[in-house]
Amino acid sequence: MENIFVTRPSMPSYEEYCAEIRGLWESKWLSNCGEKHQAFQEALCHVLGTDQVELTVNGHMALELSLAALNLRGEVITTPFTFASTIHAIVRNGLTPVFCDVEPSTLTLDAKKLERLLTERTCAILPVHLYGNLCDMDKIGAIAQRNGLKVVYDGAHAFYEEWKGKSVAAFGDITCFSFHATKPFNSAEGGAVSIRDPEIREQFVMLRDFGIRDAESVKLVGANGKMNELSAAMGLCNLRHIEDETKKREHIDQRYRENLQNIPGVSLRPLQAEVRQNYAYFPVLIDAELFGATRDQVFETMKAHHIFCRKYFYPLASEYGCYRDRFGAPEETPVALSASRSVLTLPMYADLPLETVDYISELFRKAGGK
Ligand SMILES: *Cc1c(COP(=O)(O)O)cnc(C)c1O
Repeated sequence: MENIFVTRPSMPSYEEYCAEIRGLWESKWLSNCGEKHQAFQEALCHVLGTDQVELTVNGHMALELSLAALNLRGEVITTPFTFASTIHAIVRNGLTPVFCDVEPSTLTLDAKKLERLLTERTCAILPVHLYGNLCDMDKIGAIAQRNGLKVVYDGAHAFYEEWKGKSVAAFGDITCFSFHATKPFNSAEGGAVSIRDPEIREQFVMLRDFGIRDAESVKLVGANGKMNELSAAMGLCNLRHIEDETKKREHIDQRYRENLQNIPGVSLRPLQAEVRQNYAYFPVLIDAELFGATRDQVFETMKAHHIFCRKYFYPLASEYGCYRDRFGAPEETPVALSASRSVLTLPMYADLPLETVDYISELFRKAGGK
């Protein structure tokens, strides 16, 4: 049997992509905000219902340069239950991450535990939308406003999602997206930001291009965060199909839910009310005692059958070799710690056949002796 991985990129037809990039062979313009870059940016503004979008080379640079553009000092409250990128973006800006625990149902930052972590050094909150679950943006926004804090959302898992009819890009000071090949929507590699304040956006654009203001003046210590034309063309093509691709993901999500509901010791991701979903991931939480097998045992069983699940997110950022004993212990965020030990993310991508979903579900059930 062929290997099934946790994700596989959505791609346009070869012909559609070739037609999109043909012009580049005439223009010889491959980067530095060319025609495809502009077209992709405009298309994204349209999809996200805002004129505040800037493209980036990847999701990580979107985060790192966003924090740089805000010119922050001090502590940033975030969660350890995320991808390494979130925390690295904070630390690489000379800022200190402060780990807040997550809510048991959505596994996003628990706003109820946020206020007790505030100090006079707190400058920002960096909550992470996870798997397609959205953070409690009302509560987080209110706390930020009361305390004069910036809010930067890591929206790497939340592109195309809406809450109460409004794009996630409309919340917080900045929302960052990733268009990596493994994400629900991709430009091979790439990312984008939605930045509300025009002055911050201007800083961001300068930082994205080495901090260069014009041919003879370099104003900021920037980096290279620009998206190239080939990626922008890929993004343009994929964006044309995003509705269909999301529909396919929805069917897969539904099929998994039908197959895996009501198994003792297995909890599925709750679908939040009033959220237009992107069905980014299909995580399950395994209670080993009730299910009959540990998360790691299930992982190995699946692997032996060529099904490559992922432990998103294990270990916690507070357990990384580079962060251990620096920013607080894993036990300080017990809900996140427990989730990291019990979560398994099952394969989810638009072209995953429903028969394969059934096969994976059956295998999963049997792994727990159910
Ligand atoms: C993928 C991801 C990123 C980084 O995006 P890249 O495009 O891979 O650089 C950041 N945060 C989270 C939560 C992610 O999943």
